[in-house]
Amino acid sequence: MKIERLDKYIWKIPKEGDMKVDAIIFTDAESVNDPQFREAMKQLMNVATLPGIVKYALAMPDIHWGYGFPIGGVAAFDVKEGIISPGGVGFDINCGVRLMKTDLTYEDVKDRMRSLVEAIYEFVPAGVGSTGDIVLGKKGLRKVLVEGAEWAVKSGYGLEEDLERIEDGGKIHPADPSYVSEEAFERGSDELGTLGAGNHFVEVQMVQEIYDEELAEFFGLEIGTITVMIHSGSRGFGHQVATDYIRLMRDNLKEHNKNLPDKQLINAPFEHPLGQAYYSAMNCAANYAFANREILGHLVRKAFWKVFGRDTRVDLIYDVAHNIAKVEEYEVDGKRRKLVVHRKGATRSLGPGSEKVPSIYREVGQPVIIPGDMGTASYLLVGTKKAEEKTFGSTAHGAGRVLGRSAALKKLDYREVLDELAEKNIVVMSKSKKTLVEEAPEVYKDVDRVVQIVHEIGISRKVARMIPLGVVKG
Ligand code: 5GP
Ligand code: MN
Ligand code: MN
Repeated sequence: MKIERLDKYIWKIPKEGDMKVDAIIFTDAESVNDPQFREAMKQLMNVATLPGIVKYALAMPDIHWGYGFPIGGVAAFDVKEGIISPGGVGFDINCGVRLMKTDLTYEDVKDRMRSLVEAIYEFVPAGVGSTGDIVLGKKGLRKVLVEGAEWAVKSGYGLEEDLERIEDGGKIHPADPSYVSEEAFERGSDELGTLGAGNHFVEVQMVQEIYDEELAEFFGLEIGTITVMIHSGSRGFGHQVATDYIRLMRDNLKEHNKNLPDKQLINAPFEHPLGQAYYSAMNCAANYAFANREILGHLVRKAFWKVFGRDTRVDLIYDVAHNIAKVEEYEVDGKRRKLVVHRKGATRSLGPGSEKVPSIYREVGQPVIIPGDMGTASYLLVGTKKAEEKTFGSTAHGAGRVLGRSAALKKLDYREVLDELAEKNIVVMSKSKKTLVEEAPEVYKDVDRVVQIVHEIGISRKVARMIPLGVVKG
């Protein structure tokens, strides 16, 4: 594998073999020299061989191995000649994060963190296969799949003003439930308003550092402001949609997929009926996830109200998707082109003035939320024009995993993880001891490093750094 350095943080793997385009990687020398990194790079090179890929296959600094496509990868395909691939979206369709801000300060919460975390734990169902209070029949669920977060608000699980603070208004089209299987309906019926397991979390945070005074003020953030971050996706529903379409594409598009370098890259031409069917079903799952995070946000509000009183404000700043494929237009070599942009473990990062940024944020750019880990920090940034020019409007989505789950279980000890968090005064509640070890701060890359890279390259701009005070894990 030949890697050329183009700049301090920009690397290129020139196209070779069946690659149709180069691979471009945004990261530091330390990551490039890490042997673990090779596997994900090989995956990126495989992505570069897919039909209709435009310009380059991209990797963000949080890149690591994923199913077929690497996590932290971005690939754009021409709508006419290109493809859509379930592996380029991920099994947790529209996994994403939201950031809410309260009118509380550290002084208000510091002696009541235990009660607050307990209240969140009480209100938010979490853990593998957890179910919620909302049980929907087919008809009800169909509405969720079409209306997304709007359904949640209409049904009393959220506030009207939240909707313009969610990517695409929390409702994506086309989303036709007739492309969704019985099994997916089955799995989706009682998981709405649940967090899920593992990497998903609700985290109470405090703004600890501000990089751009003006922008922070615009978002209503000061040092000491209490924020909440929620990370979840489309639960079993999205997983089933991905599974269904991987199977359908495997069974029905044998000829089209016969030369794949890795069978996990299974895909359909975007314009093929199966490509269109997956696109629509994926959007149904995306809407399920938007509704889910809206309901979770509402449950978290209720937890705050229980502990701090009903007049406490918990306002949504923004909610982003980080596992999704979207049809968007970008200028490529001087020509405006319609592309199917796959962001798998990558966040959209549109700059000021972009019409896809809600009007309340249009002058500053789209809010970008990058979680780090439960012992270190997370960030609020804004999108940039440069991202629209260089990365099909994309940036990183997290710190990125460096230690696999089983490796973490071998290397780390539950007691030590707890002690380390306790030392930092972080209150943690988790459904499972195993999860806590698998998700320990050590398993993730240093988020400060990752965020510094995207900031310096200019594909998003730092606004504030938040540190964790309390975490609820699945
Ligand atoms: P993913 O969607 O790839 O599973 O996770 C996104 C990112 O969330 C990870 O790369 C990691 O940086 C971050 N993350 C995972 N667990 C936690 C947590 O408990 N708290 C915070 N703040 N971030 C986390
Ligand atoms: Mn997820
Ligand atoms: Mn995620």
